[in-house]
Formats: sequence, C-alpha cells, structure tokens
Amino acid sequence: MTYQNFSLKQLQEIDGAHHLHPFTDHKDLRAAGTRIITRADGPFIYDSEGNELLDGMAGLWCVNVGYGRHELAEAAYAQMKELPYYNSFFRCSTPTPVLLSRKLAEIAPAGVKQVFYGSSGSESNDTALRLVRHYWALEGKPEKTIIVSRRSAYHGSTVAGASLGGMAAMHSQLGAPVPGIVHAMAPYAFELSLPGESEHDFGVRAARSVEDAILEAGPQNVAAFIGEPVMGAGGVKIPPASYWPEIQRICRKYDVLLMLDEVITGYGRTGAWFAAQSMGIEPDTITTAKALTSGYQPLSALLVGDRIASTVIEKGGEFYHGYTYSGHPVACAVALANLEIIEKEGLIERVRDDTGPYFRKSLMERLAGHGIVGEVRTIGLMGAIEIVKDKETRERFPGDGAAAVVVRDHAIANGMMLRATGDTMILSPPLIWTRSTIDMAADRIAKALDLAEADLR
Ligand code: PLP
Repeated sequence: MTYQNFSLKQLQEIDGAHHLHPFTDHKDLRAAGTRIITRADGPFIYDSEGNELLDGMAGLWCVNVGYGRHELAEAAYAQMKELPYYNSFFRCSTPTPVLLSRKLAEIAPAGVKQVFYGSSGSESNDTALRLVRHYWALEGKPEKTIIVSRRSAYHGSTVAGASLGGMAAMHSQLGAPVPGIVHAMAPYAFELSLPGESEHDFGVRAARSVEDAILEAGPQNVAAFIGEPVMGAGGVKIPPASYWPEIQRICRKYDVLLMLDEVITGYGRTGAWFAAQSMGIEPDTITTAKALTSGYQPLSALLVGDRIASTVIEKGGEFYHGYTYSGHPVACAVALANLEIIEKEGLIERVRDDTGPYFRKSLMERLAGHGIVGEVRTIGLMGAIEIVKDKETRERFPGDGAAAVVVRDHAIANGMMLRATGDTMILSPPLIWTRSTIDMAADRIAKALDLAEADLR
C-alpha cells in the first residue's frame, strides 16, 4: 500500500482519526488540517499539494546535510541487507557502532573518548543523569545527586528529560518530576538584562544564579550542572561570551560535573564539530543526537569524558542501563556516512568561515531594522528574530506568542518554513545553505514580516 493511493483529504481525515502528534493541540490540528510533507530535496521540502518550502529548520534542527542524500540511503540499505540488527548487550557488538565510537572519539573535545548510544536525545539525557549519579555513588559521595538546570531549557520529553528541562508548560503536565533537579536563570539578555547592564555583566550575573542554586542546595549535594551551549527550543538564546567561562569556574570551585546538551549544537551547527570546541567549554558529558545522522535514522550518542568513564569502568561493575537499540547497526552505518559527508564537503569550515558570517550579515541588514523586530541574533547557522510591538521599549504584542504565529503563517504561505517559540522566530537551516539560499530566506522572511506587521498594527 502506498500513500499515493490516498488524497490529501483522506490522509488528513485518517491522521485526525488516529494519530496523536507531539506538542500539538489536537482540536486545533483537526480544524486546520494536517500539513502532509511528502518529499524533500536539498534545502527544500514539498507538501502533498506540491508546494515547495525552503526548510529553515532542517526538519527539527537535524537535517544538517540536507535532503536527498543517496549515500545515506545506500549505507542503510547495505547494512540492512548484511545485518539489520543485533544488540550490543552481553559482550556483543556489531561493526558500525565500533567504528562510529572511534570516529566520535576523534572529533570530540579532548578528554572525551567513550560513547553510550540511544535512539533519541531524551534517552541520552536519561543516560547522562543516571551516569553522573552513578559516578558520585562510586566515588563514595552518594549524596551528590542534585542537578542544576535552567528555566527555558529543553532537554527532551521523557520524564527525566522534561524534569531536567525548564519549560513551565511541560512541568505543569508532568505530575511528579524526577526529584533533585533545580532550575536557575536562563542567559537571556533580551528579556532579563537590567537597564544599563553590559552584556558581559549580564553573562556573569546569569552564571552566578547557577552558583546561588548550588549554594542553596549545598555543594556537597550537587552532582552536576546541565546546559545547552545555546538554548535551542527555548528560543536560540545565545549567552554572552562571559557566561560559559564563569559557569566552568563555578563548577570547578564546587566540584560539580558539567553536562553539556549538544543535541542541537552538535555536528557543525556553530561552525565546529561541537559548540564545546567553538566556545571553549570542557564538559564531562555531551549529549548528542539529531545531526549525528542528519535525521536519516534515529540515533543518539552520549559522549562521556575520562573522569566519569574511568571511574565507571574501573570501579562500576555492571551498569544496569541500556536500550534495545543502543548502537543500532543501521543507524550507526548512516551516522558514519553522514559524518563523512560533513567532512568531505567541508560543511563545518563553510559555516565557520563563510555561510555563518554571511547569515548574520544578511539577517542583520535585511531584518534587524524592521518595525516589528526587536533583535536579531545568530551563531553559526542558528538564528533568532524577536518579534515586538515597540522596538524601543521591547514591548510585545498582546496574545503571548500569537504575533510570532502570524509571522510564521505568512512565512509558510510565502515558501519559508520557520518556527515560532513564544515571541521568537527561530531558524536552524541545513548546513548546505549557500549565500544565495540565505538571500532567498531573508527575502521571504522580510515579506512575511511586512505582511504580519500589516495584520498586527
Ligand atoms: N536536548 C535538546 C537540546 C533538544 O533540542 C532536544 C530535542 O529537540 C532533546 C534534548 C530531545 O531530543 P529527542 O527529541 O531526540 O528526544
């Protein structure tokens, strides 16, 4: 049975009847009708009505090498024919996770050489949480269990992921969160800096809120701090340069481990393999997923630093944790082929030296001066556009994010897929974007902003 035998209307009806979507109000969805994406090529996606959309979100922050990569399909096909599945429990492995682990150790920051696989970022954050608590127990400090995270953070949708995250709406539906997780301030200068406060001072103040949380909990009880180098789903919140050095100083001072969540920033997005490298962060764990396979297969990898790994290996005995699909041979084959494309095509260097700076220049020149734009910020190929009613005071439009939805809907109607989070528009395109793709995106977004302004004023 193929989907081509069904009309769009039939697919929408079946979807409405049976399919529960992630992060979706289903009454709204049924009223609007599901948008069915049927194919994609390079930087474009196509819906069932044949509309072409420039994909400003790389799927969901993941399709870094763009769509239509036959090498990845062939890597999956070849592996499926040879060995579709075997597990990595019980002293077994298969070749592709072995080779992928070596590759990840080669590209990871210094001192990070071990890998534990899952199928999603959420799973790998669960693994990270268990691993840091296990580490401290093995070190004879079982009371060190508390994790400090931040408000607005997104660390996934499992119970542990949602508890680690700092999304108030998610917490409101969570029932009992995982105990022992506290939340400090987000490094979000656009809304949280004080009048006259420099960017540097704001960064230090935001980091010190983590120190306050550690002191309140008692450093002897704190296992780790977890953070995305750049908060992604929370609105591409890029911390000031002073933030991460101060966080590292604080973690070292109180002997608190540093868990970095690079599910979005990993594999080239900021112009380095990992943001840890572009931002000079020395983490104990790095959660990665998404662009590890450019989304062609579900796969996540928790990269584990020497400090934790040596204790767990030397003193830990069996680690009672693992997933059926940990180290899935097909997903790992696709990851190897994907990393090879990133390397061969020099996509990271391109983001660092060419498209990243051009993306910033283009969005700044074309969009920052717009009447309903309060700020444009970018890092690598990741960007945010703050929608405001008043540029000077940064007053928002009424409706708590409704204005950004108006912008998004105009953008989509004009061939540009981007995302609205609260009052912030988000961009995270495939790394294959060229200068001309960036120009095309800036044109389409500028038009959407004009149309939105006419609606909103
Ligand atoms: N961590 C971060 C920073 C993310 O952005 C996401 C997903 O967007 C996750 C974790 C969860 O990953 P997954 O949806 O694969 O479980």
